[in-house]
Order: sequence, then C-alpha cells, then structure tokens
Amino acid sequence: MGAPPTQAATGRPARPGPGVPPADRALTRPRRRLLAAAAALVALAAVGAGSLLDLRTPAPTPASAPADEFSAGRAYADVQVIAARSHVAGSAANDQVRAHIEQRLRGLGLETEVQDTVAPEAGQLSGAAGGATVARVRNVVARLPGTDPTGRVFLVAHYDSVQTGPGGNDDAAGTSAILEVARALAVGPKPRNDIVFVLTDAEEACLCGASAFAASHPLAADGGVVLNLEARGSTGPVIMFETSKNNARLVDVFGRAAPHPVGTSFAVEIYRALPNDTDFTAFRDEKFVGLNSAYIDGGAIYHTPLDTPAAMDRGSLQQHGDNALGLAREFGRTDLTDLRAGHDATYFPVPGGLVRYPGWLTLPLALLAVAAVAALGWLTRRSGRATVGRLAAGFGLAALVPIVVAPVAAQLLWLAITTIRPGYAELLDPYRPIWYRLAVLALAAAIVFTWYALLRRRIGPAALAVGGLAWLALLGVLLAVAVPGGAYLTTLPALAGALGGLVALRTRQTGPWPVVAVTAAAAVGVAILLPTVVLLFPALGMAMGGVAALVAVLLGLTALPVVDLLHPQAGGQRGLLALRARRLAVLPAGAAAVAAVVLAGVGLAVDRFDADHPAPTHLMYALDAGTGQARWLSRETDPQSWTDGYVDGVTDVGDDFPGLGDAELRAGPAQAANLPAPKLDVLADATNGGERTLRLRLTPQRTARLATLHVDTSTATVLRAEVAGRSVPVEARDGRWGFGLVFHAPPQEGVEVTLTLRTKGGQVALRAMDASDGLDALPGFRPRPPGVGVVGSHSSEMLAVARTYPL
Ligand SMILES: [Zn+2]
Repeated sequence: MGAPPTQAATGRPARPGPGVPPADRALTRPRRRLLAAAAALVALAAVGAGSLLDLRTPAPTPASAPADEFSAGRAYADVQVIAARSHVAGSAANDQVRAHIEQRLRGLGLETEVQDTVAPEAGQLSGAAGGATVARVRNVVARLPGTDPTGRVFLVAHYDSVQTGPGGNDDAAGTSAILEVARALAVGPKPRNDIVFVLTDAEEACLCGASAFAASHPLAADGGVVLNLEARGSTGPVIMFETSKNNARLVDVFGRAAPHPVGTSFAVEIYRALPNDTDFTAFRDEKFVGLNSAYIDGGAIYHTPLDTPAAMDRGSLQQHGDNALGLAREFGRTDLTDLRAGHDATYFPVPGGLVRYPGWLTLPLALLAVAAVAALGWLTRRSGRATVGRLAAGFGLAALVPIVVAPVAAQLLWLAITTIRPGYAELLDPYRPIWYRLAVLALAAAIVFTWYALLRRRIGPAALAVGGLAWLALLGVLLAVAVPGGAYLTTLPALAGALGGLVALRTRQTGPWPVVAVTAAAAVGVAILLPTVVLLFPALGMAMGGVAALVAVLLGLTALPVVDLLHPQAGGQRGLLALRARRLAVLPAGAAAVAAVVLAGVGLAVDRFDADHPAPTHLMYALDAGTGQARWLSRETDPQSWTDGYVDGVTDVGDDFPGLGDAELRAGPAQAANLPAPKLDVLADATNGGERTLRLRLTPQRTARLATLHVDTSTATVLRAEVAGRSVPVEARDGRWGFGLVFHAPPQEGVEVTLTLRTKGGQVALRAMDASDGLDALPGFRPRPPGVGVVGSHSSEMLAVARTYPL
C-alpha cells in the first residue's frame, strides 16, 4: 500500500529521482526510516496496550461500598458459604446451600419459594442413555415486583456444583452475584418491571433446574429477558458470549447499561461450535430473549477440587455483579414488549465501550472492503509500485503461506510440549498458560517476519501488502456468508488497510503522512484483532492455540507496511550500508524465533505440577453386584503413571455398565467392595393385548448421585415410558441396552418407572445401576500423592454398582 517501491518491484532503479513519487523520498534515508518505524511501532503498541487495559477487570469494592452499588466484598461472603464444600444436586450439602440462599432472599423481603419438581434435560430430550435424562430439582425463585410491569427480567445462575469440586467460581460466582444484585435492587427505587431471581439446581447434571423453570414455572409462562451468569475458570474479564436470536436491541442495551461491556459477536459463533452448555440453553425458546455471560480464564481449575473461593479473582466477581446490576436496572425500566429486533448485531469491545452495527451491514461492508482492496491494487500497479504479475504472486500464494503455516506450527509446538508433559492432556488450559500463549504469539511473529524478509525482495513490499489485505477482504466475505458475527475481524482491518494505502498513495508531499496513514490503518487491525487473540486463548485452550496463531497472523498482515519500515529501502543505500541494513532486517525474525523457544522453555520450567498444581487424573470404580466382579475404569486415553497403577488396556464395558455412557474405557481388575446394587421392585405387572406394562420402583440402597435403568432390547421393545409420572421419549439406540434412562438426584424413597413393552416371548432383562462419589473407602485404593489431582469431569471419582433383573 503506502510502502515505497523497491527496485525488484518496479524493475527501475529506486534511487530517488523523477520516477519515484515524492512521498517516498522522505523515507529513503535510513535514519529517517528507522525513526518512522520506531514512531509507528510506539503508536501501535499504545493502541494495543489501550485495548488490553480495556479488558482488565475492575477493582473489587469492599463490603463498605455504598448500599446501592454492587460490592464483590459483600458477595464474596456468600461465595464462602456456598462453596464451602462440594454440593452436587441431591446432596445434603446442596440442601444447606439452598437453605442459605432462601434465607438471604427472604431476608431482603422478597417473595421467595422453592420449585420442587422432576424435570427433563434442557435442549436435548434424549440423553446418552438412549432414552431420557431427568432429575429431581429444587430451584429457589424470588420476585421483586415491578410498579408497572411490561414483562419480566430473570437473573439466572445455578447453585449446585460438580461432585469433584466445591464450585467456588462455577457457579458460586453467579449465585452470589445475584444475591448481591438482589440486595442492591431491593434497597433502591422499585423497578417498573418484575425482576425474578432464579437460582437453579442440577445444572451440572443436565440443566434440569433451568429446564423445569423455563417449561413449567408460572413466572416463566409469559417469557421475558434472561441474564445468565456463569464461570468456567477463575479469572479474566466477564465476556457476554451468547445471546438469543435477533439480538440487536439487547446488544444495544448491553453496550449502554453494562459498566464493563466485553463481548463480541464472534464469541457467539465460537460458542456454538463448542460442546459446552449452560442453563441459558433451557431458555432458547420463543418466549425468552437474553444474554449469557461468564469469565473463562484460569480454566485449569474448572470442575476440579481446586475451584475454591480462594481461587476466585474478585475483580471478575465485581465485573459480573456491576454488569448484572446495570443490566437489571436498565431492563427493569425498559419497555420489554418489543426487544426482539429483526436482525443480529455485529459488536466488539474497544477502549471506552462496545462498537455495534446491524448485522445486515456485514455483507455490504465485506464487499466494500474487497472493492477498496481492488482499487488499491489497481492504483499500486498504475503508480508503478508493482506489476500485475507481482500483485498476483503476492495474493496467490505468498500471503497464504503464513496464514497456513503459523496455525500448523502452533499446533505442532503444543504437541511437542504435551509430549514432554503428558499431564496437560487432561487440562482445559495449563495452570500458568501465559508463557505458552506468548510462545505461540512469538512463533506467529517469527513466521510472518521470516516470510516477509524472504519474499520482500522477490515480490516487493507493495504487492505483499496488497496481497495480505486481499486475503483479509476475501476472508471477510467468506465469514459474512458462513459466520457473520465474525466477519468484522477481517473486513474492518482490510477496509482500513485499503483506505490507509490509498491515502498514502495519493499523498503528494514529502513528510510523515504516508507513514501516518498506514500506521492508522494498522491501528484498526490492532484494536480489533489483539483483544480477539487474547480472548481466544482461554476460550479454546492451548490445545487449539493454532486459532489464536491464525488471528495473530491476520494482525501481522494488517501491519505489513509498518513491518516494511524495519527493512532497508531497496536501492536507497549502497554498499556496506545496504548490507548492514539488510542484516538488521532479519533481526525481528530471529528475535521472534528465539523468543518462541525461550518462552516455551520458561513455560515448561515454571508451570510444573506440584501439590498446589496437580496433574489431573481420571479414575472410577464399577462393581457388578450380580457377578461380584469389580473394575477400575479411566477415561484417560493415554493413562498417566498414577492411573496406570489401576488400569490396563481398553475394554468394552457397554454391556455391563450401559449407564456410564461410554462403551470403551481403560479398565483394570479391582477388589469387590461390599456394596448393594439398587433395588428394583415390581409394583404392578399387567399384560393386555400383547403389551406388557411394568410399574417399577428403582431404589438406590446408598446415597447415590444418579440411578440408571436400561432395557435389554433383545428381550423386549419399549413402546412407552414414564418416569416419576411424566412420559419420556422412547428412542432406541444401537446395542444390547437399546433403551435407558438416567435419573439425577434420586430421592431416598426411590423413583417410579412405568414401562410399556412388547416382549419377545420370555423374560425381560433390565439393568439397574446407581452411582455415588468418592473412592477413598474402597479396598485397594491408595490416596493420590501430592502432585496428582482429580480431573474436573462428571464421572471422575464415581463409584458405580449395577445388576441385572430378569422380570
Ligand atoms: Zn459447571
């Protein structure tokens, strides 16, 4: 774009003379050129720093903060009570947490009740069991009545935790934030709209609490605005990462009313591609609109015993609460009757706020960027800075090389690091990921610098810069069609780059203007792409560091004219000076390559596993009460040495333990523990017109987190099924146990199941299983040494007992 021509690019001597546009003369002197490079880099660094500072969390305010404000200090007192220990749905610990929440909301003078019901899984009605997943749930629901309601605002968080950890962040953060928001709202002026506080149960198991509330609570009957608060880590900015469809008006309120609005329409697209789910899934329904927010950095502790209150970054809690309170107040006074716009917005954070524009502008903007880059290419050729052939080379292959090479290199780097440290395989992210993230960025920079230094003389700076912008513009069009929320990432930098280049080309004077123009254009790329890189690392984890590397390369492509200033003006100097300048030009590439290696090494040295940062391992125990055979099982694909002491090869356990969901697991022999299988009592058995109806009661004989029941479909076909009085979908899957159901948080008195079957002549075989948590009391179990931890998963530390009942 505005880059000066080289001899190679123009085929003419590039010594300043009549053939060289006046604008370029200013930069032919090496000292001036270096000065311009330094100034441009300082400006870009300042823009980058500003963008990153904008992502910082606010300082947590103390418990003495004014009563109408959110205080992380006050909320944290609730975090400590809620996350004192693991409190999985159905446990006694969860009963205590619920009692605390109820008492806090009643204490605020709010109408408070517990919704106690049985509900199916949200989103998908058939679970891994090939039948249905249901749970007994108890949601705490409180209402702050509005003065003249136009609708309802729901603040939602789940109060249950996983079995493997106390849930200090997930989701004591959301629950405590909502209690503190409720307090601040209750002391202030009454809102116009109803505000409903919904603390859900059994989110971790099946999103069943939210599903129960959305589907059957009277306060949910007319729908409304849902604000869901989550945490999938321990620190970092709170990101608004999911919205209901046609979100333009909601995003507008978010940009205006959230004090720290961090969110991008690209995150919405990323999230859809991830296998994660939250309570918000239950509200993806015509009746509801809403926003879903979470902080996600520090993912190493997610769902593990380390997710304690002490692990929480209270700045993240403050941001969660500040935003939730601001949004609750604004939605509390907004007319809620018409919040669904006709379109989605494109939005992203910049220092000082949230940029947003209507989604229908996405494709026109993308096409405009293509046209602008084409115009730049045409003018570049006309001004003699590049031939058609070189422009084609710059676009055709040259610019594509770093776009492909950098992500592949980043993935290979992580493969090398996990080979050295296999324990990383079971972590969402390392405990101290910063060194590895910087290594990936240095690697991407090394690739861009090397590529540029190698091709600059052959193809020319102008052709390479235009080629890079052309790829950005083209990606913008592809994204606009396939992933519209992410199109701004490449469209806007391409547009800015093309305009900057055009300005630089047309500036007919000596002086700083060409450099100012290309630097300003690169600044747009930095402001948009740098926060994206920084947010992508925790969102996807190091295992997908290649995606961040890709975005880093795109950022590099927007800044090529600035990178070019680090290189000598071709033909600008002669002899020794030129040689010295050319040597200087390989410095950035070399420095970045060395930095990548050093940073990866520092990461390996600093982020070692120890008692406070253990290598997570996955182990469970399964006992067949019919045969007396017991096994250790693990989901680790490449078992670590501690796990290796329990399991050997991969075994198919699908026949014996269909309730575990996974057929293939690592397994090893174990001593049989003296544990009772769940009881299956026949309450009624009637055959009528070829259909046999069995009314059964499945009763765990110990404190169980879940119970499952499967039907051997070689003995009978399941026609209809009812669990706790509600019919569930009957959807046969392959294999012996073609029908099954999972019941989370089963009550002590058991679960009633009614099956209507077409039998195949003989007895019907049913397989009953229940599962509790904690392996400590099992014969043959040796406690983990320091440095060996527990994987944050829904099945680690699980203890399952199963047996078959022929009826
Ligand atoms: Zn969770």
